Amino acid sequence: MTDWPAKEKQYYMNTFNRLPVTLVSGDGSWVWDDRGRRYLDFLQGIAVNALGHAHPVQVKAIAQQATTLLHTSSLFHVPRQYELAELLVENSALDRVFFVNSGSEALETTIKIVRKYGKLNRDGAYEIIVMTNAFHGRTIASVAATANPHYQEDFVPMPEGFVRVPFNDLAAAQAAVGPKTAGILVELIQGEGGVYEAGQDYVQGLRALCDDNDLLLALDEVQTGIGRTGRFFAYEHYGIQPDVMALAKALGGGLPIGACMVNERAAVFVPGDHGSTFGGNPFICAGAGAVVRHVIENELWKNATQQGERLKAGLADISARHGNAITDIRGKGLLLAFDLGEERAEKFLAHALECGLIVNRVAPPSIRMAPALNLTDAEADEGLARIEKTLSGIL
Ligand SMILES: *Cc1c(COP(=O)(O)O)cnc(C)c1O
Repeated sequence: MTDWPAKEKQYYMNTFNRLPVTLVSGDGSWVWDDRGRRYLDFLQGIAVNALGHAHPVQVKAIAQQATTLLHTSSLFHVPRQYELAELLVENSALDRVFFVNSGSEALETTIKIVRKYGKLNRDGAYEIIVMTNAFHGRTIASVAATANPHYQEDFVPMPEGFVRVPFNDLAAAQAAVGPKTAGILVELIQGEGGVYEAGQDYVQGLRALCDDNDLLLALDEVQTGIGRTGRFFAYEHYGIQPDVMALAKALGGGLPIGACMVNERAAVFVPGDHGSTFGGNPFICAGAGAVVRHVIENELWKNATQQGERLKAGLADISARHGNAITDIRGKGLLLAFDLGEERAEKFLAHALECGLIVNRVAPPSIRMAPALNLTDAEADEGLARIEKTLSGIL
């Protein structure tokens, strides 16, 4: 059997602390490693595989497009691109789309949109108000918008123009608005930050702040979009509409795609302002289109709500049976986290794999779960059983 960790050590940049498992195949919520062991996948590529592994609808669309036409460039009309754009626009509050290849690029596009809006409408204003504990990506501008200093310090100077204020603190955001401000960028649930929700009043306050000062409200829905939180988009929970929205992760169900969506007010790009060689190519858009259509036709966000409630209730029961070992359970739909304390969370993660369960540690004390949106009752219950088994093993 090939020693894959040795290959990584020899050939790959030393960039990730990987788990000691090599996954080789998957089917729905289940994956198998190269030793034939089976795992219940409660992470799905970090909230990416919306329909689980190898969903037949997605597989069929990919295979069909692969044997027809992969790539043409944006010099030509791209029907698959427009079909996906239509699906997203007709099912959101936004009016136009630009496709890229990742979440970070969706944020780069978002940043350019806000800056151009400021240039055109706010006398050259370019500052974007961003939040503590935020995660927006790893490219140089998206990492500047990200809060974690460890992601930035070896790569300074960071691009300027980001003003950071405490998350969930409306007064701080209000105080930060000035003549150079062009927009506000926020996650409605901070995914990488530990699954922390923005408050209702806060988000409505940010919307009003943007309206009162002619700023753009930009949402990073890279992790929360496409049904994950129990609505098609997380902003639907808040009774507001964004001006700009970044998408990626679940959008392609495992294919690399990101998107930046805008309303007409924020549709400031003209030919030459932006581009992407691969962004929105026929192959990726056909696969993503099948995923998004399936999510919409089956209203999978409703299942995300149901299964999310089932998991939260199950976690509370497990905690009660184990001396209240779980100190916090949070999240919406199927973007969930629970706290065990730093030491226990580390042990839990390692032992979960031995119990055939895939989750991840999203903050020192916290375990994150982001199962497939089509998770069944039986799979949710099996996951809870494996969580309980894991917990019993470390207490
Ligand atoms: C994952 C993530 C990103 C970055 O996406 P990449 O595809 O890794 O570049 C940006 N914002 C949020 C909220 C994310 O969860």
